[in-house]
Amino acid sequence: MPHQYDIILTGAGGAGLSLAYHLSQGAWQNKTILLLDIAQKQLNDRTWCYWSTQAPYYPQAHTYSWPRLDFFGPKGVFRQSGLGQYRYYCLKGEEFYRIVWEKLARLPNIHFRAEAVKKIEASEKSAQVFTDKEVYEARWVFNSIPALAGLPVLPPDAMKQHFLGYFIKTRQPTFDPHTARLMDFRVAQDNEVRFFYLLPFSKTEALVEFTVFSPQVHSKDIYQQHLHQYLSTHYPRLDYEIQEEEWGIIPMHQPSRPASPPKTVIHIGTAGGMTKPTTGYTFRNLQEYCAQLTQKWDDFEVLPSEAYYFSPARFYFYDQLLLHIIRHRPAQVASIMQALFMGQSFASVLRFLDEKSTLRHEMQMFWQLPWSPFLKALYETHLRPSIRRLAFPLLWKRPHLGRAASTGPGTL
Ligand SMILES: Cc1cc2nc3c(=O)[nH]c(=O)nc-3n(C[C@H](O)[C@H](O)[C@H](O)COP(=O)(O)OP(=O)(O)OC[C@H]3O[C@@H](n4cnc5c(N)ncnc54)[C@H](O)[C@@H]3O)c2cc1C
Repeated sequence: MPHQYDIILTGAGGAGLSLAYHLSQGAWQNKTILLLDIAQKQLNDRTWCYWSTQAPYYPQAHTYSWPRLDFFGPKGVFRQSGLGQYRYYCLKGEEFYRIVWEKLARLPNIHFRAEAVKKIEASEKSAQVFTDKEVYEARWVFNSIPALAGLPVLPPDAMKQHFLGYFIKTRQPTFDPHTARLMDFRVAQDNEVRFFYLLPFSKTEALVEFTVFSPQVHSKDIYQQHLHQYLSTHYPRLDYEIQEEEWGIIPMHQPSRPASPPKTVIHIGTAGGMTKPTTGYTFRNLQEYCAQLTQKWDDFEVLPSEAYYFSPARFYFYDQLLLHIIRHRPAQVASIMQALFMGQSFASVLRFLDEKSTLRHEMQMFWQLPWSPFLKALYETHLRPSIRRLAFPLLWKRPHLGRAASTGPGTL
């Protein structure tokens, strides 16, 4: 007989913990909630950065904030600018885990088990979760384990964002603590997309990261060499010590959804398509999702439509074109980014990346970008396949028109 709960959260990372936190202060404080993860996360395994016009999420946690960003293009073109109403925020993973677990530990209806989830089986009115130790059942399962989200297994050459960051401490005051560096393209692209990212936590402390978009993850020494080279070139004679590292791989793909997903299992976080494939940013989507779900969910038996996350169709399309360029014309990405960040206010760019811009604003923005890579991407991703689909039946029905038809059905 499975152990019974009202809600089970499989995966207690960014998504599972954010949802547990929101549920614990929403209407379902009388419902039993089980969190399942291989281990209770506590370490600083990632920094969560996001931008917002509001105060930071989780006010009891220490969140760093920057009112300005800067950008370096490939040939040193530089722009530094305020963010208007926006602030760029960073919440360290260890801080997030600490404040969420402190809250959850005080609540008798929330339970945690350190077990590996093997399988989730959905039925009409409930779902069962099989771990390496037990079987559990709940009315609703929110899953953030990508391997159990029914997504197609990605081929080894799938596009990824991979990065190594150093948390450094310098002897001399070096950084401007009011300005975060979002992208610095002053590095050879080498048939990939490569840039640096720098978050100054104070005049003497920063996270500096070397980020690559490509299918192939490199050996660690490649990222290390680039980081040392960057620091010695742009901060000559810098005396620094590396205090911590941040290593990450984020998939850059657009998950296609099953036509009729099970109603009792809802995928969230990266597993639920909340990671923007062209940037890797997830945290803000996640917090907005959790806030909306818990606000709108007033009948426990019926999930509101907000429980099923979708990125608006036109942003899916824009991401599709940019992902195609990243894969097939990586050398052009730096100049696209330069045109994007030089052509309008940083606040406008952030609003667009947030998928909150208007169509009019997007058209004005696209006007500033180099058109040719996008037109080629549009042709290769949409027009050429449509032309083929249309032409194929014609060739098939009228054998005298084409060579392919004359070869016979066996070769088609
Ligand atoms: C190093 C790094 C830095 C990042 N920085 C940012 C950032 O600055 N801003 C941003 O918006 N996004 C960032 N991201 C993207 C990030 O993935 C998401 O923000 C967030 O972690 C997604 O939450 P999640 O719950 O979907 O995934 P995770 O946080 O990875 O949680 C998934 C959980 O599932 C558990 N799990 C996996 N398999 C099993 C199993 N079989 N059984 C039980 N449990 C299992 C894992 O232990 C994990 O705790 C970063 C990612 C990485 C890797």
